[in-house]
Amino acid sequence: MNNRVESERCERDAWSQDSARGVVYVAPEPEPEEAQVWFFTRKGGVSEPPFDSLNISTKVGDEPDAVTENLARIRGAMDGRPSAWVRQVAGDGVARVSEAGFAGEADALITEEEGFSLVVAVADCVPVVLIADKFIGMVHSGWRGSLAGITGKTVQEMGEGCVRAYIGPCIRRCCYEVSEELAGRFAERFGAEVVEGRCLSLPAAIRRNLEEVGVEKVHDLGLCTGCRSDLFFSHRKQGPRTGRNLAAVAR
Ligand SMILES: [Zn+2]
Repeated sequence: MNNRVESERCERDAWSQDSARGVVYVAPEPEPEEAQVWFFTRKGGVSEPPFDSLNISTKVGDEPDAVTENLARIRGAMDGRPSAWVRQVAGDGVARVSEAGFAGEADALITEEEGFSLVVAVADCVPVVLIADKFIGMVHSGWRGSLAGITGKTVQEMGEGCVRAYIGPCIRRCCYEVSEELAGRFAERFGAEVVEGRCLSLPAAIRRNLEEVGVEKVHDLGLCTGCRSDLFFSHRKQGPRTGRNLAAVAR
């Protein structure tokens, strides 16, 4: 319990807020030198409530034209870079991509190339950015993916020793009560400290997963999507009719 207070205290302010082309994003502070990271917020788009305003998903009931405009603004904010994306299926599949565009069903992407971004859509699930000498990676890790160790698996796919990880805005222990059964499965897999009663810390589980594959440099932005509904969509807090935030990384 003390651990939680301590870790949350030392992570606070580990992020900065900025905007480009009118859209607002947060980034790790300090930012990585080798790549650029954008955790786009819900601010600066054109979607109407409950998707206000920078929703990037057409699958939640938002107006397609609004989503198109939002994605155009986001692309502008990333200096015109196109993106590589996947159909997220809450599994542990890793797509290795060499160009922008749709890369099939998976929940993580890695690339050795430059000039485009790797993106995932989230509303509470954890976006994890991985940066190595050759590869960059982007992971979508909800509870299923976290339990399956998708972040560790992605690191192994990158096949390099020296990887740095950035844990983006996501639902945190303060806002994430789960069933006793699920809490128990996480405690068994990652250690008792990742749960507190029935409250689950996905970031703590992901940290353990990263440690297992030798990643020690982990930067956690410390932002909770449940607590910060002013900045982020939260499936837990706003229900299924809410938007999705985009997380992106590019070399
Ligand atoms: Zn919270």
